[in-house]
Amino acid sequence: MIFIKSPSEIDKIRASCRIIGELLDALGSKVVPGVSTLELDAFAEDFILSRGGRPAFKGYTVPGLKPFPGTLCTSLNSGIVHGIPSREAVLREGDIIGIDVGVVKDGYYGDAARSYAVGKISADAENLLDVTRKSLQLGISAALPGNRVGDVSHAIGSYVGRMGYYVADNLTGHGVGRALHEEPMIPNSGTAGRGPRLKAGMTLAIEPMVNIGTNRVRESGWEFFAADGSLSAHFEHTILVTDSQPEILTLA
Ligand code: MG
Repeated sequence: MIFIKSPSEIDKIRASCRIIGELLDALGSKVVPGVSTLELDAFAEDFILSRGGRPAFKGYTVPGLKPFPGTLCTSLNSGIVHGIPSREAVLREGDIIGIDVGVVKDGYYGDAARSYAVGKISADAENLLDVTRKSLQLGISAALPGNRVGDVSHAIGSYVGRMGYYVADNLTGHGVGRALHEEPMIPNSGTAGRGPRLKAGMTLAIEPMVNIGTNRVRESGWEFFAADGSLSAHFEHTILVTDSQPEILTLA
């Protein structure tokens, strides 16, 4: 079932999402050569707690894996999503890193991600970030009342394909708000006009994950990688479907 949130619920989701938007902005100046992903994680946890939220990923469980240990998911280069922050993972000039974060406050959740350049990056990497960011904008623009989930999926996937890149298999966006993951699943490719209909009051995490070289993924515990080792990028916002244009909630 897809929940329609009440105005008071939306206010609480908005508060969690604002912390995320501010954190992702603040991380921009922290993502530099020489810093470890564990240091970024510690900064993020302090930031969230100081604003009255709690990290939503930390302790998250799925069958067969240990609870997720981080506040952030930090996915470097060919990492797609769910990278575990580590003292050993030290950023180097030319890397790209996807940082994904969830926050819960007063029982309501938000979720967003951004891929960052570490220092100066290659033109190929820059283009991947541009295309992935733009695909998210196109997906959000399709989240109109009366449209269907497939319209969002199609907007993302068709653009990524036209640009010569690949949407990562089997990794999707999702409803969010009362829980970190709710219905509907929001695939990053699909057929326009198919799937559940969108209605005002739905809160959705739309999150294209785009690889340069292949759609195939390789899993290692929590972590997902592009199967060919090519670069991967990830951008995500939590948005509110309204009676007119969607509202992006995970902005500062
Ligand atoms: Mg998400």
